[in-house]
Amino acid sequence: MTLLPWQADLWQQLNDYKKQNRVPQALLINGAKGIGKLNLAEQFAISLLCEKPDSNGLACGNCKPCLLLKADSHPDLIKIYPEELGKAITIGQIRLLLTQLNLKPQYNSYRVIIIHPAEQLNNSAANAFLKYLEEPTERTIVILVSNNLSIMPATILSRCQKFNIQKPDKSTVIDWLRGQNPELSLTEAETIHRLSNGVPFQALDFSKTETMTMRNNCFTAWLEIGTNVQQPAVIAEKWHKLQISQLLEWIATWMIDIIKCKYQINIVSLYNPDFKKQLDYLAQKIILADAFKLYDLILISKQRSETQLNKQSLLEEILIGWYRINQTNN
Ligand SMILES: [Zn+2]
Repeated sequence: MTLLPWQADLWQQLNDYKKQNRVPQALLINGAKGIGKLNLAEQFAISLLCEKPDSNGLACGNCKPCLLLKADSHPDLIKIYPEELGKAITIGQIRLLLTQLNLKPQYNSYRVIIIHPAEQLNNSAANAFLKYLEEPTERTIVILVSNNLSIMPATILSRCQKFNIQKPDKSTVIDWLRGQNPELSLTEAETIHRLSNGVPFQALDFSKTETMTMRNNCFTAWLEIGTNVQQPAVIAEKWHKLQISQLLEWIATWMIDIIKCKYQINIVSLYNPDFKKQLDYLAQKIILADAFKLYDLILISKQRSETQLNKQSLLEEILIGWYRINQTNN
């Protein structure tokens, strides 16, 4: 595991705590999804457990604790995740954790607990955990990792030392991305940076060919609905297995770009410069007011998609809307 270039300053702070022997008992790492929070949390956890960290404080990778960590079997690193993706972290999980914490750490250094994502502690789990934070056990460091501080209990937040990871600047992301994927041209990396809103791990995900291919195929289908080649319901059915948040994100950028094309804005500012020709064509077909209306619907659907179970009906509504606004001016 290597240090992410945009986390060097935070790492310095964390490492200073360690060197001065005053690591806070509860840390909270906060930032956008895909920015590498868990990476930082795990890196710090490992460095706390390693017997011979290097001059930068990074774990050596070779000592006994490091080898146990690599095998994911170090008894003093406990990770608490939701048992199912997207579900809550339950009181049962926290009770089990608290039982473990009654025992002494097995090695001489620290014991580290990582809770991710911390905003998914349900109410009773959060209350039980708060009691622990009021009377923490010695040599035990809790690292909470959160995508969304606004929905976390203030009582927990007030007991944590907070670390915010800021979105890195464009050139940092592009350099890192091309380091991860040397075949990527600068132009490709720039398109991906724009499409992923500058979030590094989302960009990395994009740079994998299958994501780009999927995005291209989805755009072709979108174009086919607009040109009356495909039916919205058929495409909604085809798309129902894809990740809806990702799809809505893409569709939103297509609509923004169509609106920009209507205003004849410079290609450089498009999210999807590679689709410029098709977007221009679509922009000529539709009325601006309709485009804005559909864009509003996409934004509402993004919010709804977090709670609504029937995601396919959300998609269908958008695709039908898209179909209709293309029909009105034929
Ligand atoms: Zn080590």
